[in-house]
Amino acid sequence: MFIKSITELIGQTPLIDLQLDIPNHSRIFAKLEMFNPGGSIKDRLGQFLINDGIARHVITAETVIIEPTAGNTGIGLALAAQQHHLRTILVVPEKFSYEKQQLMQALGAEIVNTPSSAGIKGAIAKAKALAAEIEHSYVPMQFANPANPETYYQTLAPELIQDLNGEKITAFVAGAGSGGTFSGVAKYLNAYDATIQNIVVEPEGSILNGGPAHGHRTEGIGVEFVPPFFEDVRIDRTMTISDEDAFHQVRDVAARLGLFIGSSSGAALAASLKLAKTLPENSHIVTIFPDSSERYMSDKIYEK
Ligand code: PMP
Repeated sequence: MFIKSITELIGQTPLIDLQLDIPNHSRIFAKLEMFNPGGSIKDRLGQFLINDGIARHVITAETVIIEPTAGNTGIGLALAAQQHHLRTILVVPEKFSYEKQQLMQALGAEIVNTPSSAGIKGAIAKAKALAAEIEHSYVPMQFANPANPETYYQTLAPELIQDLNGEKITAFVAGAGSGGTFSGVAKYLNAYDATIQNIVVEPEGSILNGGPAHGHRTEGIGVEFVPPFFEDVRIDRTMTISDEDAFHQVRDVAARLGLFIGSSSGAALAASLKLAKTLPENSHIVTIFPDSSERYMSDKIYEK
């Protein structure tokens, strides 16, 4: 393969049949988004948001990009913004992975940290305040921008159908942070086949199932407010997964399958395995592994 830019490697990630020994012969397929060049599913979003902003003339050569992010969107945005020499400021709550913040800086972005206790809402407020101060700034605002689910509707979802080459999908399982991935993919899949069940995954401490909001170690998923993108998508079930179950899958998949998955992938797999038990024989579950555990190593994931 010959390429001229690293961004050409965004998308067209592999879909793995995990070949798990499930008693009712169901299969779980996972889209390996850690193989994007910036290491996560959010490279797709970073590229889409920058291209969309340029197409709508809200991004010009002098624009300063400002975005609140848990990290992966920041890396994706920094990668895309770098191609256009755009100054990028990422507002990240302190608690998020050290490695991800290092990667953002390596790509040339500036980081502004907000207190962990203020959550993602605190980062959103800070990004808005910075935008009011800094001239020629543009906040893509992944949490409200319809370009977010659109990214996944246009790229990841059709790839899943192609990858499966006619195999039926029984259920689609994905975690939600901004909700962009889940909403965009679920909407596309349901237009293709309305019988596909949409299962959204959250960690304990996220509010979708009505539980109390609190901190969690599973990173990248979990919401403090219901994503606006959920309004036009059918949600068949919301599964709440403990940090313990998510990290158990992270370790198990590394040890047994040679695959380094992040904790949100671990949660997606834990949910898929629980769901599989409730589905008919020979069901097909499709899920997403958004990133790898390499960017969380300082969290000592694999230490006993
Ligand atoms: N997993 C990880 C590791 C992430 O960084 C994100 C994005 N915050 C997600 C899952 C959830 O994706 P989305 O924002 O599209 O809901």
